[in-house]
Amino acid sequence: MKNPFDTPERVAFRETCREFIDREILPYADTWDEAGSIPWGLHEKAGALGLFGFGIGEEYGGLGFDDCFMRAIWAEAAGSCGATGVVAALGGRAISIGPIDKLASKEIKDRCLADIIAGRKGSSLAITEPGGGSDVAAMQTTAKRDGNHWVINGSKTFITSGMTSDHFVVGARTSGDGLEGISLFFIDADADGFSRTEITKKMGWWASDQATLYFDDCRIPAENLMGAEDHGFGQIMHNFNYERLGMIAQCVGMMKTCLNTSIEWAQQRKTFGKPLIRHQVIRHKIADMSARIDATEAYCNQMCWQANNGQMPVAEISKGKFFATKGLEFCASEAMQILGGAGYLRGNPVERIYREVKVMAIGGGSEEIMRDLAVRQMGL
Ligand SMILES: Cc1cc2nc3c(=O)[nH]c(=O)nc-3n(C[C@H](O)[C@H](O)[C@H](O)COP(=O)(O)OP(=O)(O)OC[C@H]3O[C@@H](n4cnc5c(N)ncnc54)[C@H](O)[C@@H]3O)c2cc1C
Repeated sequence: MKNPFDTPERVAFRETCREFIDREILPYADTWDEAGSIPWGLHEKAGALGLFGFGIGEEYGGLGFDDCFMRAIWAEAAGSCGATGVVAALGGRAISIGPIDKLASKEIKDRCLADIIAGRKGSSLAITEPGGGSDVAAMQTTAKRDGNHWVINGSKTFITSGMTSDHFVVGARTSGDGLEGISLFFIDADADGFSRTEITKKMGWWASDQATLYFDDCRIPAENLMGAEDHGFGQIMHNFNYERLGMIAQCVGMMKTCLNTSIEWAQQRKTFGKPLIRHQVIRHKIADMSARIDATEAYCNQMCWQANNGQMPVAEISKGKFFATKGLEFCASEAMQILGGAGYLRGNPVERIYREVKVMAIGGGSEEIMRDLAVRQMGL
């Protein structure tokens, strides 16, 4: 489907992303997935292309402009390679960059941001706790002021790139109960009282590391408070919008790969004397997949347009995220079915995508929470 919002710059950027994926990721996707990590040089190559620099000033090596369509173009291209573990390892930092840029002190930005944008250093966002991730307002990690320091106690889990990041944006309770009283902090991995352990044996995202982080009387300078004290909940929710929009676009890319791989296979595989593509049941699966992809893509375009025009479309994003992940679940399942036994073998993109369906449906706001948010946006 031709994108009515394409401009020459966006078309060229899509081509750049495509080339990067084809040259730097696709040939190694399986090897890195099986190895459980990516080489650090890939971060620097992505940084050199500006893939971490949306909305970041040129003084920190950013692009000096933002464009949600370009964010979506990169996310879709990344999803289309069907190696979302590699993409998570590479792009996990994206959800921490916005808060660092908007809320961290100038001293912290001058010290760290250029290295993060260039891919020389890694950063993570740490919100989820062992006690739960959906109910952000129930956060238990505490931050207590002690003279010129904050003292952090508690734990975070499932933190993407948590083992490899040099810097963390961490949510902690500074007062009271509930959503008021949460603040964000910038914490370096070498801070006193900080430690981490890796989460292993996961269903998917093999090439990306997830960690449990521990803060044991972890002392950080007072200036490491990010933004206004007790205002972290709103900041976390605002940041989620960009993460979710990116995940929607990533789902579009993943769904397209499911469809394209299915068509290619169905054209050359013969059963009962004719190619699979000539069997009506298979044709209907292709039609259903294609319709869901078109709808998700059109919805995503509308959200990008709204975000570019100063309206953060929270209602659309919450509906779009579960619509996209349900579409992905459908397309991945139908594609596996069309490939038959061949789909079940490790090392093809459909098999990789199939095992990544659930992380898309749970991470960044689960389908249930997205539905709840959507209905609340309707005023109900
Ligand atoms: C691979 C991976 C990477 C991740 N990376 C990060 C990261 O970088 N940073 C970070 O902070 N977090 C990260 N997460 C955590 C993720 O955001 C949480 O898993 C998610 O928010 C859900 O939280 P939970 O797992 O604690 O489930 P819970 O909150 O315990 O919920 C369990 C189930 O109950 C459902 N549920 C909860 N409340 C309701 C309700 N009111 N009504 C109906 N159903 C409900 C949920 O939808 C879910 O299906 C990651 C998770 C994974 C799996």
